Amino acid sequence: MDLFDKCSTDGGYFGKYRLAQDNYFSQPILEPHPGRLMKFNDSDQIMWSINNYLGLAENKEVQTTALAAVSEFSTSAPMGSRMMSGNTTDHIELERQLADYSQKDAAILFNYGYLGVLGTISSLAQQDDIIIIDKLSHASIVDGTFLSKVPFRVFRHNDMSSLEKLLKRVNRDRKGGLLIVIEGTFGMTGDLANLPEICRLKDQYDARLFVDDAHGFGVLGAGGRGIGEHFDVQDQIDIYFGTFAKAFASIGGFSSAPEKVVDWIRYNARTQVFAKSLPMVYVRVLLKTLELVINGSELRERMWTNANLLKEGLRNMGFTVGWGESPICPVYVTTAEDQMESVGRRMLIYLRDNGIFVTGVTWPVIPLGLIMFRMIPTASHLPEDIEHTIAVFRTMRKELNLDLSMSPDSERKIRKLYGKD
Ligand code: PMP
Repeated sequence: MDLFDKCSTDGGYFGKYRLAQDNYFSQPILEPHPGRLMKFNDSDQIMWSINNYLGLAENKEVQTTALAAVSEFSTSAPMGSRMMSGNTTDHIELERQLADYSQKDAAILFNYGYLGVLGTISSLAQQDDIIIIDKLSHASIVDGTFLSKVPFRVFRHNDMSSLEKLLKRVNRDRKGGLLIVIEGTFGMTGDLANLPEICRLKDQYDARLFVDDAHGFGVLGAGGRGIGEHFDVQDQIDIYFGTFAKAFASIGGFSSAPEKVVDWIRYNARTQVFAKSLPMVYVRVLLKTLELVINGSELRERMWTNANLLKEGLRNMGFTVGWGESPICPVYVTTAEDQMESVGRRMLIYLRDNGIFVTGVTWPVIPLGLIMFRMIPTASHLPEDIEHTIAVFRTMRKELNLDLSMSPDSERKIRKLYGKD
């Protein structure tokens, strides 16, 4: 058998998308300027599919900072890893400010959020340690856990009795440390981790807590500090993680923690130790963006207003919107299991033909028989975008003759998705 034989099959988690490769449902080609309006198939679309929560992808001050940094450094600087030749006072200053903002002693930068989660988990969990993760965890958490090569356990999504059961079991004969890894905001379903209870349990069972707050950093809490600020438990998070790829509309990520922990990660996280450091252009841009996020109360307010209007409008029309407390607006429609693809496709085509760009998700990401359109309201959306979007959902419902009622079975599936069964 040849190594490449598998490449001619439709195998793999995303096999059906690989087969489609239509640049419409799979790998759609978008005009690259991110913002409230983007071009798809030569037509203007109201963009509900990018994590530009605060609208900073369109910010002129950020653009000016980026241009100045490019003209000063081009894209090459710095060269080498932080350990050898890639460290600068700007990297150190950005880490200091991120530590301050996230209310931890120290912080460490990573080139991508994905690499940050991998590097943080795999440098901290070693040998006799054990990791516990939520069932709905992002791929980076799962992959970081695999990279650690330590035993791991999975609790039912946001289910505290399932978590406690595992903690009890694991504590019976554990030899090493225990790391609980959770997401602050679950990016698909939009619900928040039950952080106060998780903090209580991790103290009771003598564990450490790593919170991947990719979707909460800059977004949740009055000051945008994330899930910990939202629940007023930031000081109980042992290691906090944020990405710059969402509210910051840039690239990179960071973990923040007590000084000695960050120091350990700095010299043991292989995803960063052996990689060139974050480019100077991004570091300069991120220093500017952080300032805008810290002073971003008005942007956060606008984002919340838009999120609430969108969710309310769709709910009033009869659509089922997930009940997460984040701005993310997941819209659920139920169909027969053999019609998920065709109904989802017709809806997506209708929405895009009418200038609404959303991402559609079906099984295996969500349970069979459900279609979900994940929408991300941002600070840059205008009231007329919401009005138009709601109007298009209304005509879609009528023209496609959609049945928006939810059978008890579908309701149960959604409740289960949110860990509420
Ligand atoms: N964690 C979570 C929860 C995420 O949603 C993402 C991005 N999809 C990441 C980590 C990875 O972040 P990045 O895109 O910055 O690599």
